[in-house]
Amino acid sequence: MRFSGLRVLTEGLTGNRGWRPHWRDPDPRPEYDIVIIGGGGHGLSTAYYLAREHGLSNIAVLEKGYIGGGNVGRNTTIVRANYGLPGNSEFYSHSLKLWEGLEQELNYNVMMSQRGVLNLCHSDGQRDAFARRANAMVNQGDDAILLDRAGVRRLVPYLDFDNIRFPIYGGLYHPRGGTARHDAVAWGYARGADGRGVDIVQNCEVTGIDIDNGRVTGVQTSRGAIRAKKVGIVVAGRSGQVAAMAGMRLPVESHILQAFVTEGLKPVIDHVVTFGMGHFYISQSDKGGLVFGGDLDFYASYAQRGNLPMQEHVMEAAMTLMPVIGKARVLRSWGGIMDMSPDGSPIIDRTHIDGLYLNCGWCYGGFKAVPASGNCFAHLIAQDRPHPAATRFRLDRFRTGVGLMDEEGTGAQHNLH
Ligand SMILES: Cc1cc2nc3c(=O)[nH]c(=O)nc-3n(C[C@H](O)[C@H](O)[C@H](O)COP(=O)(O)OP(=O)(O)OC[C@H]3O[C@@H](n4cnc5c(N)ncnc54)[C@H](O)[C@@H]3O)c2cc1C
Repeated sequence: MRFSGLRVLTEGLTGNRGWRPHWRDPDPRPEYDIVIIGGGGHGLSTAYYLAREHGLSNIAVLEKGYIGGGNVGRNTTIVRANYGLPGNSEFYSHSLKLWEGLEQELNYNVMMSQRGVLNLCHSDGQRDAFARRANAMVNQGDDAILLDRAGVRRLVPYLDFDNIRFPIYGGLYHPRGGTARHDAVAWGYARGADGRGVDIVQNCEVTGIDIDNGRVTGVQTSRGAIRAKKVGIVVAGRSGQVAAMAGMRLPVESHILQAFVTEGLKPVIDHVVTFGMGHFYISQSDKGGLVFGGDLDFYASYAQRGNLPMQEHVMEAAMTLMPVIGKARVLRSWGGIMDMSPDGSPIIDRTHIDGLYLNCGWCYGGFKAVPASGNCFAHLIAQDRPHPAATRFRLDRFRTGVGLMDEEGTGAQHNLH
């Protein structure tokens, strides 16, 4: 226990000089048992569970920038388990259960707030699809409530229910969904992994992957060569680039997703509300800012910033759903690089190179996956067999076409939907 009310008070009165860094800042050693490339949410949670559940500690997480500088610190923080297809259902259900115990597990306030996620529907067809999804969620053991128009109005009276193009028919409500503070999740896992002996090495870019006779032997980095028996690639939007260092061409395209936050307002939105037809979703942060976003910028890019046409589109969708938002002033917008897979579902798998493992394809929904992704990837790396909750996230489904999980029904090129 490093925090207490008394400690916060004492530090506040004495210039906050007594706090210790949450994790060490070690130089990389010449050799590790396991090297994790990428210090985002997924890389840090992988290292944490490798140490916590598999008793391994000779591990380095190599991060080219700083912890929390990637998507884990750029997302809109929505956590949910409202998937419909086998493969995704059990995985996200596993993740939500880990989320529910995460603060106790890490002894860190990740501000997990199960305020409920409401998906709106605007046609009979969409309502039918939500009914199917709700049944799948309930069958998986998660919670789902199908709301009619009056039920939605009771929850979120401030929406435009009679919009000519998108009248609200009802909604799918998922009470256990909600939000968590994104960078606190990275910091909590970083502290937990560090405390179990993992070296978290920041400002250390991997520039090459060493392979000898079909087996990985280490990595080249901006801070020298590091030998390793096993290497995990967990670099989200940079997956294609890093896998190419091992001669692999991934079925993944990198696209930009933007988000926006307004000035702080008094509490107005109690839930996460999504308007899928208009490509818009919104929640309110604990600081009061309305946090919202929309669709991808429709071009492949490694820039961590988006463009004006999508900003205009998102604002338009916001005004369509919730005209009152026109009174709020937008403070900031930013972008992150999404690793879009063709079926919109992720990959957690071995590669054809011994000792080299791959975790990617999270598209725009990988924050809610952080606990389960790390938990399942650690299991795969430590035991060389998939975790029961992640057996279907196979890389070869894109070669064979068998086992695709096209959750949104957008066809074979999800990245271009
Ligand atoms: C605007 C926006 C909104 C989103 N909203 C949500 C949401 O509400 N809910 C949800 O579930 N998901 C959401 N997402 C998606 C989610 O943020 C990502 O899927 C997830 O964070 C990706 O995993 P990560 O945290 O490991 O990625 P990152 O934090 O990007 O981690 C990857 C790390 O790898 C590092 N790296 C890359 N190349 C190298 C290299 N060569 N050497 C060393 N390190 C390297 C990067 O610097 C980076 O820190 C959103 C994303 C964005 C951008």
